[in-house]
Amino acid sequence: SILHQTKFFVSAAKLNQLPDASVPEVCFVGRSNVGKSSAINILANQKKLAFSSKTPGRTRLINMFGIPNPDSPEHAMGFLVDLPGYGYASVAQNTREEWADVLGAYLRDRRSLAGIVLLIDIRRGVTELDRRLAEWIAPSGIPTLVLLTKADKLPYGQRMRAVFAVTKDLQKIGALKVIPFSATNRIGIDETAEQIINWIQP
Ligand code: GDP
Repeated sequence: SILHQTKFFVSAAKLNQLPDASVPEVCFVGRSNVGKSSAINILANQKKLAFSSKTPGRTRLINMFGIPNPDSPEHAMGFLVDLPGYGYASVAQNTREEWADVLGAYLRDRRSLAGIVLLIDIRRGVTELDRRLAEWIAPSGIPTLVLLTKADKLPYGQRMRAVFAVTKDLQKIGALKVIPFSATNRIGIDETAEQIINWIQP
């Protein structure tokens, strides 16, 4: 997969620090601890590309990873964008709102956004913050793939019931695709990679 060539590109604290919106990008959003770093790392087939929310530093930033253009590897053909996780309980209220602002502004203003990967813990289901985010995304019409993370924690039948329930719940808001995902047991990785590549290389 060309995603395996992904390289760290830049971190930004503010939207105006991001590079020009010149190539398509796919962003990753979800609650802190949902498994976002693990998902990015497994898709890129690299152990430490994205850092876990428990790691201080880069995680409060927008982290961009470049997918090299095979014909000219020093240029990115697309970006994966790791947005700050939301809903982290121990974060002060005003800091939390700042993050929500960054997230909201990015989703609203970023012209090069070609697709969104929304991560939801399969055992937790759709939380209030997830629903608000989905409502925020829907009018933009940007295609969204929902990964139900840590799917290895449920047996097959319950996993499928969770997919059905979340699909039913979120499809009231907008069209999106929901699949089970596990970085641990490698569930849904090929399907996710294929979708991301299709968004970046239509
Ligand atoms: P982030 O905060 O969303 O970036 O989440 P991380 O990727 O750091 O994962 C948070 C925790 O969930 C870590 O303890 C991971 O080991 C665990 N985790 C992540 N993905 C999976 C998975 O697919 N299955 C299981 N069982 N645990 C996972």
